[in-house]
Amino acid sequence: MKTGTQATPHSFRPECALDYMPVQELRQVQLNRLRAVVQRAWDRVPLFRSRMNERGLLPEQIRSLSDAAKLPFTVKADLRDTYPFGLFAAPMREVVRLHASSGTTGKPIVVAYTQEDLEIWTSVMARALAACGVQEGDIVQNAFNYGLFTGGLGYHYGAERLGATVIPASGGNTERQIMIMRDFGPTVVFSTPTYFLHIVDRAEQLGVDLRELPVRIGFFGAEPWTDAMRSRIEQAAGIKAYDLYGLSEIIGPGVSVECPYQDGSHIFEDHFLAEIIDPETGQVLPEGEEGELVLTTLSKQAMPLIRYRTRDISALMPGTCACGRTIRRMRRVERRSDDMLIIRGVNVYPSQVEAVLLEFDGTQPHYQIILTREQDLDQMEVQVEVTQKIFSDKVAAMEVLQKKLSDAMRQVLQTRVQVTLVAPSTIQRSEGKAKRVIDRRKI
Ligand SMILES: [Zn+2]
Repeated sequence: MKTGTQATPHSFRPECALDYMPVQELRQVQLNRLRAVVQRAWDRVPLFRSRMNERGLLPEQIRSLSDAAKLPFTVKADLRDTYPFGLFAAPMREVVRLHASSGTTGKPIVVAYTQEDLEIWTSVMARALAACGVQEGDIVQNAFNYGLFTGGLGYHYGAERLGATVIPASGGNTERQIMIMRDFGPTVVFSTPTYFLHIVDRAEQLGVDLRELPVRIGFFGAEPWTDAMRSRIEQAAGIKAYDLYGLSEIIGPGVSVECPYQDGSHIFEDHFLAEIIDPETGQVLPEGEEGELVLTTLSKQAMPLIRYRTRDISALMPGTCACGRTIRRMRRVERRSDDMLIIRGVNVYPSQVEAVLLEFDGTQPHYQIILTREQDLDQMEVQVEVTQKIFSDKVAAMEVLQKKLSDAMRQVLQTRVQVTLVAPSTIQRSEGKAKRVIDRRKI
């Protein structure tokens, strides 16, 4: 391990005091805030009020936290349908910031913050970063995009609040990122996991060994990632890699974060109410069961969201964490219900493909899934980059690897997969979230 300031699992940071609130007190705070936010949305957001009316439900009927299950869901389409400002619960003169998330189709969704909302956002980000040891004296390289996307500024203000030195590198320009890592000596990096892997690859090509640089921890988010991907990042860069979860609709990054135990992500429950539901029936599932994460903002003013369906697959973890935090943990999001592909009737997630690849030496976690339809049958091809060593080896080695991968994929995915090995650096790199699937199955 590298030297320097290190978070010991039990080190208490004043910024994190609210993470240790007695549970009963925390539930009372949640209930008070839930009732207030439901009232606010009822008073100010016509869509919410009409949905409550349809159910014959009044704000004062929310008397306990479990009554939240009676409230209507909010879905992404609601944000699109009311584009751009239809869900705002504050007049524009009170709104001091707008962000927008790029929609894959059509118009983006727009989110708003009052001064108070920004303060909450900064405070949860500061708590998240402090939980894993970021502090005054740290130099932070922020490779999340600055702009309409919430990643850049969300991380930026959280790190500044802790007194760290922030380098607003933003995403892209990989060689400059590496130059900054060498010359400015950041101790902390923020990035999407796929972009950071791209930085790792490029550094290797340039003969820069990230393990020899001062960087010791990284925060990764904005897309689902697996434990296998975490190991790859930690080994290649010689850092501890933490998941920091969030989404623009709720606040941006800062909904939950791992602690040094890396065993689930602590939700900032004083600001966000989490439920897990069965995505088919909408029923709330008991603690420990896997389902879709649903979040309610408990304190946001400009754009409160009630029971927002995130499409992220997770579970609320039972028991308490060894770090002593009382705020509950959610399992790290490795996949989204949106990501699910149906291939010949079988459900397949890109994260399953990634997990198989990371088990084999000689492959890179850079891949693309290409779906086509031939004679009414779905065909799935996975293009996988191999390492330079395998690529320049004998043809036989490639054939053996390809056969092994095809067999492993068929076992895990329960469907036939055509594996194609491609040369290093041929699959297009993303500077933000990776595009893993190309679906050409147009009927
Ligand atoms: Zn913990």
